[in-house]
Amino acid sequence: MEFTKIAVATGNKGKLREIREIFQGVELVSMEELGFQGEIEETGDSFRKNAKIKAEFIARKYNIPTLADDSGLCVDGLGGAPGVYSARYSGGGEEANRKLLLKQLNEVSDRNAHFECAVCLCLPDGHTYFGQGRTYGRILFEEEGEGGFGYDRLFYSDDLHKSFGLATEEEKNSVSHRFRALCDLKSRL
Ligand code: IMP
Repeated sequence: MEFTKIAVATGNKGKLREIREIFQGVELVSMEELGFQGEIEETGDSFRKNAKIKAEFIARKYNIPTLADDSGLCVDGLGGAPGVYSARYSGGGEEANRKLLLKQLNEVSDRNAHFECAVCLCLPDGHTYFGQGRTYGRILFEEEGEGGFGYDRLFYSDDLHKSFGLATEEEKNSVSHRFRALCDLKSRL
């Protein structure tokens, strides 16, 4: 299926750049350009459900094919936490989230982890297409590097053999859960 114009349900410029690279030739419309300023509540208990909630809301409201993603960090020794609660883990922002993660892992030996991403493309008629991606590694004992965002500097990537905090944006994007989810979606269209 070919699309000429897709709305992207994110205010994050880095995500827009990544999506632009993969969907070359497609005009991407930002939430700002649509005139949407609100927050869409992520009430789902999975990345897939949350991506669908966001894509469906915008696709129906503005009558335009819409791409949305939802992602987070899943740590094996914590039973998959923080998972869909990654952004709200500590209730106090990214630095507090990283501190809480290290604290929770104090007594835990299994630090294997992965980032997971689900993307959903929803058409105005409600038809949905999904993509899923993961990137594997483990949680470090202390922060390494200052790059990226969220949990990046605590995540040692099995693919890159260094922390995401030490990786360039290009290196990270080449192995990221989001990149893999977008490629998966593209292959299904
Ligand atoms: P969202 O998909 O933008 O809602 O991201 C949810 C949360 O998961 C973010 O606030 C981060 O805490 C975490 N997260 C998702 N992807 C990444 C990543 O690539 N690096 C670091 N943290 C991430």
